[in-house]
Amino acid sequence: MKIICVGRNYADHAKELGNSIPDEPVIFMKPKSALLQSHTPFYYPEFTNELHYECEIVLRVSKNGKYIQEKHASNYYDAVTVGIDFTARDLQDELKKKGLPWEKAKAFDNSAVVGKFIPITPDFNRKNISFSLLKNGEKVQDGNSGQMIFSIDKIIENISNYFSLNIGDLIFTGTPAGVGECVTGDVLEGFIDKQSLFSVEIR
Ligand code: MG
Repeated sequence: MKIICVGRNYADHAKELGNSIPDEPVIFMKPKSALLQSHTPFYYPEFTNELHYECEIVLRVSKNGKYIQEKHASNYYDAVTVGIDFTARDLQDELKKKGLPWEKAKAFDNSAVVGKFIPITPDFNRKNISFSLLKNGEKVQDGNSGQMIFSIDKIIENISNYFSLNIGDLIFTGTPAGVGECVTGDVLEGFIDKQSLFSVEIR
């Protein structure tokens, strides 16, 4: 499996990092080793002094496909959750300045937290998924899929022009504003509506 991530998919987040609004989805990947196994602690990586959380809606791919049209995209995922795209922001800034790839800052071991999946039902409204992140019990991020620059189905169409989608792949759909630092001892808890889907402690 692979983890495909979208960057800068919410205008207010692009703005907070001083990035322009993209006219095509910004895509990067994390390898399988980036997936934090559930009930495993997250250890603060030694190569950063500025670890950021980014809470995002995550889709689970349920059908193999390539060149998927937006109108058919909803047949290719069957469950949704929230996760964290952990980012070594200081390292990412350095890499960006040099025009280098981001992987060291975003695709390191355990940098992808994925919550418990909620199966998608026929009445599921993909344009109105409300999600939030609490840090130590306080809300630090909230967003709604309706605010995405590129909708879930548009993302699938775009990704699948470049990368085959395979059953079990995960898609991180971008973070809303409110990204910030976390330190050892912090507990991050992710929600869709009022349902808690993950809780991770930084050790
Ligand atoms: Mg992200």
